[in-house]
Amino acid sequence: MTNKSRTHLTTFSDDLLEWAKRHGRHQLPWQNPLTPYRVWVSEIMLQQTQVTTVKAYFIKFMSHFPNLESLANAHIEEVLAVWSGLGYYSRAKNLHKAAKALLEHHDGAFPKTIDALSALPGIGKTTACAISSLSFNQPDAILDGNVKRILCRIYNLHEWPGTAKVQQKLWSLAQSLMPKKDCQQYTQAIMDLGALVCKPKSPLCAQCPVQSWCKSFELGQQATLPIKKPAKPKPTYAIYLLLLFNQKQQLLLEKRPDTGVWAKLWSLPQLNRNQQTNDIFFQEFKTNLEGLKSIKQFKHSFSHYHLDVVLKSIELPESLTKQIVMENRKWVELSALNGIGTPSIVNKCIKFNELSKKKPDPLLANHHY
Ligand code: SF4
Repeated sequence: MTNKSRTHLTTFSDDLLEWAKRHGRHQLPWQNPLTPYRVWVSEIMLQQTQVTTVKAYFIKFMSHFPNLESLANAHIEEVLAVWSGLGYYSRAKNLHKAAKALLEHHDGAFPKTIDALSALPGIGKTTACAISSLSFNQPDAILDGNVKRILCRIYNLHEWPGTAKVQQKLWSLAQSLMPKKDCQQYTQAIMDLGALVCKPKSPLCAQCPVQSWCKSFELGQQATLPIKKPAKPKPTYAIYLLLLFNQKQQLLLEKRPDTGVWAKLWSLPQLNRNQQTNDIFFQEFKTNLEGLKSIKQFKHSFSHYHLDVVLKSIELPESLTKQIVMENRKWVELSALNGIGTPSIVNKCIKFNELSKKKPDPLLANHHY
């Protein structure tokens, strides 16, 4: 908690509960009456669907299956037909399986421990805690998407909440805020806070009952939280790009394949940098790669990967240029480059080559590529 919060005479849950009495949601279809069966069905429906959509489906579901027995004894086809339109049908199948398991192994009653609830099909830890706190008034904190967002903001947690380590931290923070009594009201209140005030995009901090507990609000960082899933790192491929000139100072260009990056454009000869590079270069250009001058090393990025480019250059003697196979290749005057379809990297490489005549790349000074 923030230093500011330590001076509070109320707790986080006191402030939240007080607000929820007047501003929380008290007319959701599954709240009246609030039974374990109705809480369970609503929680399963809410796993992947918004409250506004769930309301009508919940009422329809209850009119077909008003209690556990009616659901357990129904045919699965009937359950799926009533579920139809909500999507993620495995949820309906699991509801049906769990209803049968509750009748067979728990005498038709919901068990009261988190472990036993979590052992039922389709019930994860947060759903088990929701059933336990909302139906049995037990101090079992939930950790759904709303609560994760609220906690990241309250504690100014700049870590992506998807990792096991951060989840563990969030579970313990969630539990630390859970009061010992009024657990049903608290769980509903924190859900309401996430839905009505601490919204994903624009939190309504001015109306927030727990603003004074909120570290990210205090620091003005709430809009940046929670941290989004980090993008997968792009792979980097190490290549050579070659500036091969003939005796007339013409540059060798190669036509790129019909698909892939720079498709069908005329680009510089390119080789992957690996153990076979020297041999491949010799086969193609009848000279050794070591004879080329290293001009520049630079990174070139595409949407899905990076190229780590080492640019090399040489002026080939006529005896060698005559031996180069010219299929999909041509010699081009530098002045004529603009009239040819080339990727921008060709001009970039030519500029690097010009610059290197004045000032060599210090990164390459001590390297032998
Ligand atoms: Fe969320 Fe703003 Fe309240 Fe912090 S002050 S909990 S960011 S609504």
